[in-house]
Amino acid sequence: MTEHIVVVGGGTGGTVLANRLAEKLGPEIERGDARVTLVSDDPDHVYKPTFLYVPFGKKTVEDAKRPLADLVDRAVDIEIDRVTGIDTDGKRLSLRDGGSMAYDQLALALGAQLVPEELPGLAEGGHHFYGPDGADALRDEMAEFTEGHLVLSVIGTPHMCPAAPVEFVLMADAWFRERGLREDVEITYTYPIQRAHAIQNVADWASEAFEERNINVETFFNADEVDPEEGVLHSMEGTELDYDLLVGIPPHAGSDLVTEAGLGDDGWADVDKHTLESEHAEDVYVLGDLADVPTSKAGSVAHYEAGAVADRIASRTRGQTPTATYDGKTVCFIESGMDEATFVDFEYGTQPTVREPSKPVHWAKLGYNESYWLTARGLL
Ligand SMILES: Cc1cc2nc3c(=O)[nH]c(=O)nc-3n(C[C@H](O)[C@H](O)[C@H](O)COP(=O)(O)OP(=O)(O)OC[C@H]3O[C@@H](n4cnc5c(N)ncnc54)[C@H](O)[C@@H]3O)c2cc1C
Repeated sequence: MTEHIVVVGGGTGGTVLANRLAEKLGPEIERGDARVTLVSDDPDHVYKPTFLYVPFGKKTVEDAKRPLADLVDRAVDIEIDRVTGIDTDGKRLSLRDGGSMAYDQLALALGAQLVPEELPGLAEGGHHFYGPDGADALRDEMAEFTEGHLVLSVIGTPHMCPAAPVEFVLMADAWFRERGLREDVEITYTYPIQRAHAIQNVADWASEAFEERNINVETFFNADEVDPEEGVLHSMEGTELDYDLLVGIPPHAGSDLVTEAGLGDDGWADVDKHTLESEHAEDVYVLGDLADVPTSKAGSVAHYEAGAVADRIASRTRGQTPTATYDGKTVCFIESGMDEATFVDFEYGTQPTVREPSKPVHWAKLGYNESYWLTARGLL
């Protein structure tokens, strides 16, 4: 009998996983003992870290995309369709185009959704760089913005790439300085808890960098409503900020599919943080942003998780007991201006050290972004 492994989601987690499975199960696929299908609702793979550079005119939204078919091993069947239901008892997926698909082992890598509509006024009054349309529109705003108050507000957690909002304001500071406009632009960063970032060491480093660069910080600021007419951002704590340009990191959500399938009651999937196996269904793995594990929602996490999940699925397919686990490994490069960066790496339960920013680390981040296309293919 052929073991059918279905991976849903053609982003970082799903693509790396599908390629790893093709490599690990090459002989089984060749013999017809195993089949790997990647289902994604987008024919393109989108590399979201590129969006950080779009508002500053350094990259375009097109730079973030490659056809999925160019990145995925030929041994994997690609199905462009949207999964609309998951029946974990019957081991079957419903598809938007009407059909259904049976699986023996399932891996979900659906990512996180942006839900700006959860904050009144945000869609009308705010901008962001977390998706292609938002990043494009913000580039146009930034190009025209020569004076006034730029407010970046992190609206709720969790959100993808916890470092990106810090990077954005540090890059904006350097970008306005380069253009001789910094004197005329006030910059404020807000964060919902009582420090500038969820990770203490990153918060300490960012607070110092913000102070050096004259960037205002408002902590314990939980955005409640945006008034686009008046240009005011209100917080639940009763404070308010006048803005001329609002960059709001939109609220994020998991997937209704997860809730409806009983894989997690708030849209984020409940999994064992080491095996990435669902706590509620057999032969279901969840990786990437959708998995509720105690680390950042980051591409590096999805990537390392994919390695462990591929090993476990390959072992099961061969009738062996899986032993591979994910230890929480997370790596984040953090831009600290337009030409310097630092990076942090940590595992479950450890605190990262933030190194002194340098030009070589900035070049390394840019270099990684280019070589990502080889990484996603499994060549690096
Ligand atoms: C601005 C920005 C900067 C970032 N910078 C970094 C960084 O520097 N370093 C880092 O490590 N991470 C960074 N990230 C985070 C990183 O991009 C995500 O953590 C990563 O993409 C998560 O991978 P994923 O596979 O879980 O989800 P995604 O890459 O989002 O992929 C989800 C896939 O699922 C598909 N899909 C969704 N629903 C369905 C459905 N119902 N049926 C079929 N297909 C479906 C989507 O089309 C997509 O292909 C950044 C993110 C942003 C927004």
